[in-house]
Amino acid sequence: MNAAKRAEIFARLKAANPAPTTELAYTSPFQLLIAVILSAQATDVSVNKATKKLFADAPTPAAVAALGEERLADYIRTIGLYRTKAKNVIATCNILLAQHGGEVPRTREALEALPGVGRKTANVVLNTAFGEPTIAVDTHIFRVANRTGLAPGKTPLAVELKLLKSVPEAYRHDAHHWLILHGRYVCTARRPQCERCLIVDLCEFKGKALAQSPDPTP
Ligand code: SF4
Repeated sequence: MNAAKRAEIFARLKAANPAPTTELAYTSPFQLLIAVILSAQATDVSVNKATKKLFADAPTPAAVAALGEERLADYIRTIGLYRTKAKNVIATCNILLAQHGGEVPRTREALEALPGVGRKTANVVLNTAFGEPTIAVDTHIFRVANRTGLAPGKTPLAVELKLLKSVPEAYRHDAHHWLILHGRYVCTARRPQCERCLIVDLCEFKGKALAQSPDPTP
């Protein structure tokens, strides 16, 4: 895909949604960090349901650490992998308290040293809590980047690096939000909704004509 097409894709996504953000509910960098840890292999809706009560009762690292693993697990048991996540969240809170004065660190290295935090989570926190132009590649972005030809790559890291290089600077900070939302609601995994897609004329997906027909399944 050429640079002009890429720029036009982001210009259209921006025009349709000038200030995109995460659908996770949070009121501090700490709460965003915990919500992103909990969201691995779970929907934002299910995470928001659990964190509504959790953050009301325990809004800070000290308060969550004081709950302990068992009581934290009770708050999040509707979320997949909740036992492992409870363990990681408590360990993360203890490190924040012991090593970072109860604050969320602002560097990738320190974030990725926290239990349950990988590159994607660190990218979301750096971007959405701290305003860095990082791009967190989740399953939606991976699919959209490959399908459209925007930034094809075999691994999430390859796609991330390609996007960082090729997304025009003006759009880099919000790029991952636009692409996630596009993948979640329009360019969906099983049946992309090409007939109502803003970028249908720019997308290089070979199956898009088929996907626009009334019933693409054989
Ligand atoms: S045209 Fe279809 S395949 Fe291409 S981005 Fe839009 S929904 Fe996805």
